[in-house]
Amino acid sequence: MDSSGRLILMAVHAHPDDETISMGGTLATYAAAHSPTTDTYVVTGTRGELGEIVIPEWDTPEAHERLGETRMGEIAAAMAALGVTHFENLGFRDSGMVGDAGNEDPRCYHHHSTTNLDDTTEHLVRIIRRVQPDVIATYDDFGGYGHPDHIAAARVARRAWEVAGDPTWRPDAGPAWTPKKLYEVRTPDSQRDKVLALLESRGIESWWSEPKEATPEELEQWHQWRAAMACPDELITTRIDITKHLGAKRRAIQAHATQIKSDGPLLSLSEQDYIDLGAVEQYRLVAHRLPSEPALPERDLFEGLR
Ligand SMILES: [Zn+2]
Repeated sequence: MDSSGRLILMAVHAHPDDETISMGGTLATYAAAHSPTTDTYVVTGTRGELGEIVIPEWDTPEAHERLGETRMGEIAAAMAALGVTHFENLGFRDSGMVGDAGNEDPRCYHHHSTTNLDDTTEHLVRIIRRVQPDVIATYDDFGGYGHPDHIAAARVARRAWEVAGDPTWRPDAGPAWTPKKLYEVRTPDSQRDKVLALLESRGIESWWSEPKEATPEELEQWHQWRAAMACPDELITTRIDITKHLGAKRRAIQAHATQIKSDGPLLSLSEQDYIDLGAVEQYRLVAHRLPSEPALPERDLFEGLR
């Protein structure tokens, strides 16, 4: 809770754009710009400097040189679209995709979090102890889709959830603060299937479309990966209705111009399509420190705290 009594959501992410794609509507819902009783903080682990540039004419060696800086500008524009005024970056280096040389760079988020989880976590704990969030939202253990930086973000957020309220844990990192609820953002199987069916009916390829040229082993691996990106519907505890913020979420996605294609799956669907699909962002309550078990399912991340 902040000094004016607002409840605080802290979203812990890997790269610029993840926050908007996975939970942009939720971030807007709780930003002080849209709700007088809550506020939103976004923390990103890296600046996304190793990612692809999806606009061919921008994809130059010089643009890659300054990609981290460009993406910090893009996330600033995305946050402005969502009405979020607080966002910070932990300053780790992007690790690249699974198996990339970037994974072994000692400056990268993946390497830091696997070689010294507590030192890595201290960076986030300092922010938690200063901002005093009531709720933390991050990814599941698979980091949503297996990216090393996403897995790092989820591990760091979980470790911070455990230790931030312990006054004996790194007392130099600020006075202890105990967040009350921890969530992971998830895509349930039914939602994945509905979105995929709609995209396929319009001939739009997505990360959920089966690869056309693959060996049987590659295909088997791909099916396992796709299954891990979603979860059984019964794991979902919390659905946030984002209908009011679909337009803002779309503008925030567009702000991440170097990495989200304007004709790709995320921007090919209209606001009405999202309403027809069920305009919700979905979560699993992983842990809580409420005085009693919350009534599930919930429609508010601050249920039990208001
Ligand atoms: Zn990412």
